[in-house]
Amino acid sequence: MTAQQPKPRPEEAPSRPAFATWLGGTNEITRMFLAAGKVPGLINMAGGLPEPETYPVKELAEIAERAVSKYPQESLNYPPIEGLPDLRDRLAARFSNADLRLSRENVLVTSGGMQALDLIGKVLLNEGALIAAQSPTYLGAVDAWRPRRPSYRLFSPDRNDFDPVAALTGAQFAYTVPNFSNPTGRLVGLARRLELVDAAHQTGTWLVEDDPYGALYYDGTPLPRMITLSGAKQSGEIYSGPLVYMGTFSKEIAPGFRIGWVIASPDMIGALTIAKQGSDMCTSGLSQRVAVDALDAGLLERTLPVILDVYRHRRDALCAAMDEHLSEWFDWEKPVGGMFVWATAKNPAMDTDKLLSEALKAGVCVSPSSVFDPHGEDRRSIRINFTLNTPDKLAEGIRRLATATQAIGLD
Ligand code: PMP
Repeated sequence: MTAQQPKPRPEEAPSRPAFATWLGGTNEITRMFLAAGKVPGLINMAGGLPEPETYPVKELAEIAERAVSKYPQESLNYPPIEGLPDLRDRLAARFSNADLRLSRENVLVTSGGMQALDLIGKVLLNEGALIAAQSPTYLGAVDAWRPRRPSYRLFSPDRNDFDPVAALTGAQFAYTVPNFSNPTGRLVGLARRLELVDAAHQTGTWLVEDDPYGALYYDGTPLPRMITLSGAKQSGEIYSGPLVYMGTFSKEIAPGFRIGWVIASPDMIGALTIAKQGSDMCTSGLSQRVAVDALDAGLLERTLPVILDVYRHRRDALCAAMDEHLSEWFDWEKPVGGMFVWATAKNPAMDTDKLLSEALKAGVCVSPSSVFDPHGEDRRSIRINFTLNTPDKLAEGIRRLATATQAIGLD
């Protein structure tokens, strides 16, 4: 036995390896508003959270109880990486229509929509690769892809001079949230959807259609999904086009479920499955089994109208309060669905990172536009959530935001 080495004194302890360099690129503002969400008394209008009162607790509890006792193997074993065959079949059936033929091979079940974004980054991005992204861009997507240090080409389908072929050419993939974008709450119109799909077919660039809010239309008729428009360009066989559609039950049932999905060509599903194996091996079998039984029991058809009523009412309450207190400083459009209002300062000198600091002092939290800009430059807008708070709280939050805006001292 060798003599015991003396323990190094603390000041001589070897320095630990540094964290990976991409972590240095994470955003201070994001950390600030995530922490602010927990301050007592603060009205949090920053997140994208559903109203917990809408969760179908009793029915889900019964379904979960039955899932464990009736399907112990499916619920408690490791399920297949791609997902439970029953759930893949239900999802394929749910999104199939006259233009889009889907089978189980077109579907990967993921642990929330967030994992779908992560897996896309894993299979399509080498270090420094180019992403074409709808601007402003969902913060979670930017976070998911940050380890690959991608470069971004930003595009705005709202602009008259938008050129979809130029936007997509040469990118590894294009990223869009066509239904009630996070953060703007806006729709990509039908003409632009068709142009984007045409451009994807023409250039071969993968077109990611991230659609967590597609069921949350409060007014009007839902626009067709881009993957359906793409399916219409193909005949006969199951879908093999360039669209990569992502969905989730987070906004329709409950986020704690962590059930999301990707619908795409079988070769893309195969690549994503390899990536998923190295990420989490599989999505919770219990959640998947509950999802199958909830779909079969018609839970979505029962809960969705209730959710839509609550959120429509809250959207109206928020917009009324904004009309009353914020119209001096900001412009916005009332969204047709989703969870957010995007307000842009009339005065280009506005810095909404600074407004966030004032807002926190006044007891309200909103998301500043800098976090939705992959280049971190946009300081003129804010994203305001209306689904989490009651109408009274929304009105009080907007009064506090008006106080904070006044304190910034711009015209
Ligand atoms: N994409 C977008 C645009 C989102 O807004 C969200 C949720 N905020 C997600 C993906 C991820 O959702 P989840 O992981 O809860 O399914």
